[in-house]
This record gives sequence, structure tokens and C-alpha cells, in this order.
Amino acid sequence: MTMRTLLISKLLKKYNIKPSKRLGQNFLIDESILNKIIEAADLSSNDIVLEIGPGLGVLTVELTKKVGKVIAIEKDEKLARILSNELRIMNIKNVEVIQDDILKIPDYQLPVTSYKLIANLPYYITSPVIRKFLETKQRPELMILMVQKEVAQRICAKPPRMNLLAISVQFYASSPHQKFGSGDGPKIISYVAKDSFYPQPKVDSAIIQIIPKETPKIDTEKFFNLVRAGFSSKRKMLKNNLPGIDFEKIGLNPKIRAENLSIDDWLKIYENL
Ligand code: SAM
Repeated sequence: MTMRTLLISKLLKKYNIKPSKRLGQNFLIDESILNKIIEAADLSSNDIVLEIGPGLGVLTVELTKKVGKVIAIEKDEKLARILSNELRIMNIKNVEVIQDDILKIPDYQLPVTSYKLIANLPYYITSPVIRKFLETKQRPELMILMVQKEVAQRICAKPPRMNLLAISVQFYASSPHQKFGSGDGPKIISYVAKDSFYPQPKVDSAIIQIIPKETPKIDTEKFFNLVRAGFSSKRKMLKNNLPGIDFEKIGLNPKIRAENLSIDDWLKIYENL
């Protein structure tokens, strides 16, 4: 049993609670993984961090040592109360614990100044959280997220393994195949084994880094309708999913499949609409 497992078991016992499966409560117990998250976030004493799902504060406490302020949003009422209490006992003052559902927090309650988003996410809200923070006007300067391993791989996919999720993230966060942005796409910082958590989840995880970038100035709804149509029947050649597009004119092989296209290719098709 590691020190962290011991600490978590002690807190669960002290407050007489059981981790909730429904809320994805798998607490991080691996010191080296904690360090990797902190390192990837490149923190400094001026930083404001928004942490989603602080749980029992394993990550929160480490963050408080490095940054100016942590805003920790926890859905579970009991855990939010326990965390506030434990922080008081430890005399840690630079955390604001907010009991709420991150998906219900309106944009105007997000930090107005520059901030970083860090979360060991409950898996059931991974996609909506990423979408929310990429589409809002108050985007974070950086996101470091713990997500399910397969989801991480899908987000960071490249042609010929592109998919809708990869395009949705890379459109806002740039990709190595894109003219827009610096070319610094979403990336996997580290894979994380199941036994880094207590209780152990069924699947392995990965830490990913997403850096929001300036997005192309286009009608995004129209763009994503096009991409969805392109992926609508996966195995077909693109020309069957998108009749009416002159692929040869824009320099694309009409037999190409959606999985083979980069964001730039999709932008070319969009401009040809
Ligand atoms: N950060 C802690 C750690 O690393 O040990 C806990 C991570 S645990 C995987 C996910 C946390 O998110 C839980 O504390 C859970 O209660 C909380 N949570 C679940 N759904 C949430 C939501 N919609 N909004 C905010 N927090 C949520």
C-alpha cells in the first residue's frame, strides 16, 4: 500500500464515505503521475488553475504549492465539504472550492483572466468538458487532462486514422498537419496504468495536453456538418459521402476516405462548397 492509498483510505474512513462509481471517483495514488501532470502544466506562482473534480484533493494540494490560486469545482456535495475542511486543517488558503457540476457552470463564471485547466476527469464527461472549454470565449491557455487511454489516442490521431473527435479537438487546438497555429497539436504526455488509481478503474488512462489556438474564421457549424457528412458512412470513399464536391479540382484523390484527411484538407473542401 502506498502512502497516497493510505491517505485516501484514512480520509474515506474518517468521513465514513465510499467512492462513487457513478461520479467516476477513482483517486490518483501514484506520486510519479502527479509529478508528470504538474510538470506538463508548466506552473508558476502567477498562474490561476481551474481544477475539475478535485475529489479528496490529491492533485489540488500539490497545485496549491506551485500556483497563485486554484479554483476547484467538485460536483459531489460531500467531497466538496470534506475538501474544504481538509484544506482548512492544512491551513491552505489559495483554493476556492465550488460545489457544482462543471457542465452547468455558465461561461460568465469562468475566470476572465488567463488560466490553466487541469483535471483527472471522470470518464463520462470527457468529451463534453473538452468541447465546453474549446468552444467558450474564455478558453484556458492550456489543458492537462487525464482521460481514458483509447480516447487520448483518438484525440491525438493523425491521418490515416483521423476521426470526428480528433477533428473536433484539433480544429480548436491545432494539429501538426495544419497551417493554422504553431503546429503544436494535442499530445499524449504519458500513459497511466489502472493501478495508479484507488479504487482501480477497468481501463488504462493517459495524460493529454491540449493548447487552444486561434481558429480559422469560418462558419464552424457548416464546417462540422461537412465533416460529419464525410464520416457518416465510414468505409465509403469520400466522394460517395460528399457528392457535388469536385475533389480533383482541389487536388484530392476522389477515392480518398475521411480518415485520411487532415484539417487543412477539410478546410479546402469547405472552401469548395
Ligand atoms: N482529482 C481527484 C484525484 O485525482 O484523485 C479525483 C479525480 S476523480 C477521477 C473525478 C472527480 O470528479 C470526482 O471527485 C467526482 O466526484 C468529480 N466529478 C464527477 N462529475 C463531475 C462534474 N460533472 N463536475 C465536477 N466534478 C465532477
